[in-house]
Amino acid sequence: MPDTKALSEPQKALIKMGLARDIDLALHLPLRYEDETRIVPLRDCREGDTAQIEATVTACEIAYRPRRQLLVTVDDGSDTCMLRFFSFYPSQQKALAVGTRVRVRGELKGGFLGWQMVHPTYKPAGGELPSALTPVYSTVASLPQLYLRKAVLGGLARADLSDTFPPGVSETLRPVVWNLREALTFLHQPTPDVPLATLEDRGHPAWQRLKAEELLAQQLSQLQSKREREVLRSPALAAKPGGLHEQLLAALPFKLTAAQRRVGEEIARDLGRGLPMHRLLQGDVGSGKTVVAALAAAIAIDAGWQGALMAPTEILAEQHFRKLIGWLEPLFAPRGLRVAWLTGSQKKKERAEMLALVASGEAALVVGTHAVIQDQVHFRNLGLAIIDEQHRFGVAQRLALRDKMKEAGQEPHLLMMSATPIPRTLAMSYYADLDVSTIDELPPGRTPVVTKLIADSRREEVTERIRSQVAQGRQVYWVCPLIEESEALDLTNATATHETLSAALPGVMVGLLHSRMPPAEKKAVMSLFTGGQMGVLVSTTVIEVGVDVPNASLMVIEHAERFGLSQLHQLRGRVGRGAAASACVLLYSAGEGGRLGETARARLKAMADTADGFEIARRDLEIRGPGEFLGARQSGAPLLRFADLATDIQLLDWARRLAPLMLDRHPELARKHTARWLGGKSEYLKA
Ligand code: ADP
Ligand code: MG
Repeated sequence: MPDTKALSEPQKALIKMGLARDIDLALHLPLRYEDETRIVPLRDCREGDTAQIEATVTACEIAYRPRRQLLVTVDDGSDTCMLRFFSFYPSQQKALAVGTRVRVRGELKGGFLGWQMVHPTYKPAGGELPSALTPVYSTVASLPQLYLRKAVLGGLARADLSDTFPPGVSETLRPVVWNLREALTFLHQPTPDVPLATLEDRGHPAWQRLKAEELLAQQLSQLQSKREREVLRSPALAAKPGGLHEQLLAALPFKLTAAQRRVGEEIARDLGRGLPMHRLLQGDVGSGKTVVAALAAAIAIDAGWQGALMAPTEILAEQHFRKLIGWLEPLFAPRGLRVAWLTGSQKKKERAEMLALVASGEAALVVGTHAVIQDQVHFRNLGLAIIDEQHRFGVAQRLALRDKMKEAGQEPHLLMMSATPIPRTLAMSYYADLDVSTIDELPPGRTPVVTKLIADSRREEVTERIRSQVAQGRQVYWVCPLIEESEALDLTNATATHETLSAALPGVMVGLLHSRMPPAEKKAVMSLFTGGQMGVLVSTTVIEVGVDVPNASLMVIEHAERFGLSQLHQLRGRVGRGAAASACVLLYSAGEGGRLGETARARLKAMADTADGFEIARRDLEIRGPGEFLGARQSGAPLLRFADLATDIQLLDWARRLAPLMLDRHPELARKHTARWLGGKSEYLKA
């Protein structure tokens, strides 16, 4: 990192935007283009056009109603146009004095009073017209467009764009691609004859080149990290006959499903190999991943190593903790082993005790939240790291857990779990170096959840339904809408719902859970619900999705149209865990015009149509793109900028086939290629 003190604001902004290197600048492609090559007469313009005109100022005055503004009228000989400025300086008034000829550019609105432009850009008329389309880049306030444009062109000119594709490889691509310099020059500096549509057509040879490059970099870096991991050592952990693993199996109150047994064996095989496991365990909500993880931990512990289980929220972590204690502690006690508990909200003294247990190795298993990866946590010998709901952690956090044994030159085995299945295209691209185990079967005795779409106007009926469920001794979740912009609003809404329900259901304990409650309070509410005393739990966000209360039989989701499909599916998975017939009510409110939008309806209908998490994930990917699956928002991991997995599957295939050949036969080109595309970020792809 350069010393940023000596840098100007725009320079700092460039670095902040990840545009430090010439190549980064060169790869920062325009968001869109503006056509400043022509002056058009107002007469030929249409409503909504972004137009560039040259005209004479015929009036310039300050108006005070409805608010203070500068109103400038211009006439280009074909028509007149009113320019409005709501914030302006005296100097602007001067520059727009009556009689001045100006070149004005802005979006045209037709109105009652004729043409208008609000806050157009303007300069003196007559200057030279650019000969090409003007690129417009995404930027931030402290980095003016013009500065960025110059920086990008400078970067483009200086960057080393020599070909990193092995000889003869470009020719194997269909359709034919351009070379990198051609492609970038075309997109940054389109020549006057290039129509806008060509620039936007991602099938164009210039785009194809960029996509091919990007996908190749991604595949190379993943393959590279896979190979690096293969030279690392992890302990070879073999299940002992009659050992902890078998004892745990025997002690469980149920028999494993065939799918659980199969994935258990896949994991056990990895653990026994002495190479670091890097496996994703995916299975629909309620498919029983926790017990599979516990069995894996039992193998590690029996071999004399520690296991760690990290969950994204305190409630989830605590639930795991209780479950694991219940299963394991009776088996641990005779061996003098313990389960430790680590969370952010813990009292100092308790925490210190736990840290000591972890460091000494007496805690054979450590369960907790992010607290598990903090610096003060020293494992004696971590052999297996388990991450639940892995997509809710950032990449850096996953790396931190894996790095816990770094000083000892060791790498723990890594087991990640997720109820959000990764669609095949993603598995091939982002998770190319990940082994995947899938639990594709639910434990027996579950009753399918009936899903109903109900308009918000029929809330009363829903309340009635709740009353009858509670009267039968069942419990109910009520999830309030997620309003992304405002946690405060979320809260008001949930509080109101909580009050209404409490009033409507006399004699029923109705609880409220929201993300900003102190952990102790959350814990208290949760334990009343798990304990069965609380009939209805109103909750604001989806953070607590992993909870397991088999007696709950009704899930109401308010403003269901605001949730992602996978989220809805996860929430729905909270019910139907016991033998009772269960239902999920998706309350939707009709938007403006009194109707739910067509896509929104189609999405919600998909929920009612299928209970298959994979199918839902597939539809979700179509609708929302890959971010949700990758946990990208938290991780900052480089998503694909140019390629689109929905349309570029052929290029992805090509890159997948080329990557191993290139690493073997052209390692220098491979290194250069990933450095160019990923720079310092390639580390992130390893987690
Ligand atoms: P998830 O995969 O969503 O994390 P859990 O591990 O929380 O699911 O399991 C859901 C519930 O099913 C738990 O109460 C768990 O004890 C129970 N369970 C797991 N496996 C089985 C099984 N084979 N038979 C019956 N119940 C099971
Ligand atoms: Mg779970």
